[in-house]
Amino acid sequence: MHSDRKSVVVERMTDEGSQTIECELPAVICVTEGVAPELYPDKEHMELAQSIPAEVLTCADLPLSLDQFGANGSPTWVDEIRLVEPNRLGVLLEESTPEEAAKQTADALRLRLAELAVESESSAGQDFVILPRYPSGKKKSIWVVAENTKNGLAHVTLELLGKARELTQFTNSEVVAVLIAPPSEELISILATQGADRVLVLDNSQLGPVCGLAVANSFAAAVERENPYALLFAATADGGDLASRLAARLELGLTGDAIDLEINADGRLVQLKPALGGNVVAPIMSKTLPNLVTLRPGLLAPAIPEPRAVATVEHVPQLPFDGPDIRLLKEDFQEDLEGILLAKSPVVIGVGMGLGSPENMAEVQEMARSVGASIATTRDVVHEGWLAQQMMVGISGRTIAPTVYIAVGIRGAFNHTVGLQRSGVIIAINQNRRAVMFRSSDFGIVGTWEEFLPPLMEELRPILLELVATSD
Ligand SMILES: Cc1cc2nc3c(=O)[nH]c(=O)nc-3n(C[C@H](O)[C@H](O)[C@H](O)COP(=O)(O)OP(=O)(O)OC[C@H]3O[C@@H](n4cnc5c(N)ncnc54)[C@H](O)[C@@H]3O)c2cc1C
Repeated sequence: MHSDRKSVVVERMTDEGSQTIECELPAVICVTEGVAPELYPDKEHMELAQSIPAEVLTCADLPLSLDQFGANGSPTWVDEIRLVEPNRLGVLLEESTPEEAAKQTADALRLRLAELAVESESSAGQDFVILPRYPSGKKKSIWVVAENTKNGLAHVTLELLGKARELTQFTNSEVVAVLIAPPSEELISILATQGADRVLVLDNSQLGPVCGLAVANSFAAAVERENPYALLFAATADGGDLASRLAARLELGLTGDAIDLEINADGRLVQLKPALGGNVVAPIMSKTLPNLVTLRPGLLAPAIPEPRAVATVEHVPQLPFDGPDIRLLKEDFQEDLEGILLAKSPVVIGVGMGLGSPENMAEVQEMARSVGASIATTRDVVHEGWLAQQMMVGISGRTIAPTVYIAVGIRGAFNHTVGLQRSGVIIAINQNRRAVMFRSSDFGIVGTWEEFLPPLMEELRPILLELVATSD
């Protein structure tokens, strides 16, 4: 905080690195866990706290109407929650010795990989279905807010456009891409090819960062003018920031971090989000329109590109503004080497808290290295400081699609397994036969990793080495 107590300097994590920004107070700041060391009060401070009178306020004491609170006041509501039903073989080996389990799993893996190869050959043709477009359907437009990175359009933008195209099969409406960047023929052409019928350009070169007041004001005015049906943002630092600014300005509900979208029989947008520690999926609906939602990167499939598609281009008028609310002081781009490696790796070993200690992590990392596999992990392991944040897979981490994923000592919370859904074959070792990870796996071994992992890695070695060699 500045000495004049009028502004703060904040380090903001972005998807490409970090930014140092300065903003005036008062400000709403969301902080990540671990931003400061926890403070443990001693006896003296606890006694002191007891003597400080606590003022208790209820909603009725606030200068707001009571129907703005609770479920009635919420602009979104949760429909009946759904159990997560993983689409996996769920074969479990319980009584085998470590050597038998290793042999049986290796045989089963060979067979499964051969089956998957045949399936992917026969479905290759079906994947190339181009969905119809509805460029003149303006009534229920679906807007996708494009993310422009220093390396071009972010992949998540293509994913959102793909989902928007799917949704327009129910709404019979256009897909509009909102490009918050100086107009570029190349970007507009990619947006059209990937599904946009219209591109709205909001040139922010004079306005400042995407996450700033001026961009949000001009964008909100465009939304009010056109009243689209839904606005899809990426669940990234900028996407989340801009979406919440719009939600606040336009008094709209916002679903953050959704993993998928559907349109139900009543024509409502169903925004699916993991809930209750990731054991179920909550379908969230909005009472307000347009629907506002941020979607996790890496979970949705882009549409098949249509190289000849063109989009009409319109410019969003820039509203006059009194100066920015944030100032970008510094921006650092970091190449995410660990992430790039994980995204490409055909074999990934996922390690969880069941490994028991960082020393054991090192042992499994060595086994992974010997077969050319990458290591992924859970949020709890990252919180323990045993492995780096970039290796975390799941709703708060990355999404991966290896040919083989081996989960070792991982409970299998949906918050983790949601990042694995596109894996080819999943093998799990867990000492607890009730571990939910087994329901998300094709082959499960009930037993401790100390006993079962070393012989398994020996048996799998030739298969894994071949997968790694053929992917290079
Ligand atoms: C909002 C939110 C977001 C989250 N996002 C993520 C995310 O992105 N990614 C993520 O991973 N998590 C995420 N989590 C946390 C997640 O819900 C789980 O708490 C976490 O994944 C559990 O980690 P774990 O399986 O390593 O640990 P644990 O739950 O402690 O499970 C350890 C497992 O190891 C087994 N085990 C113990 N000893 C052995 C042994 N010797 N051999 C074999 N097995 C053994 C145990 O039976 C147990 O099943 C999130 C949670 C919340 C609330």
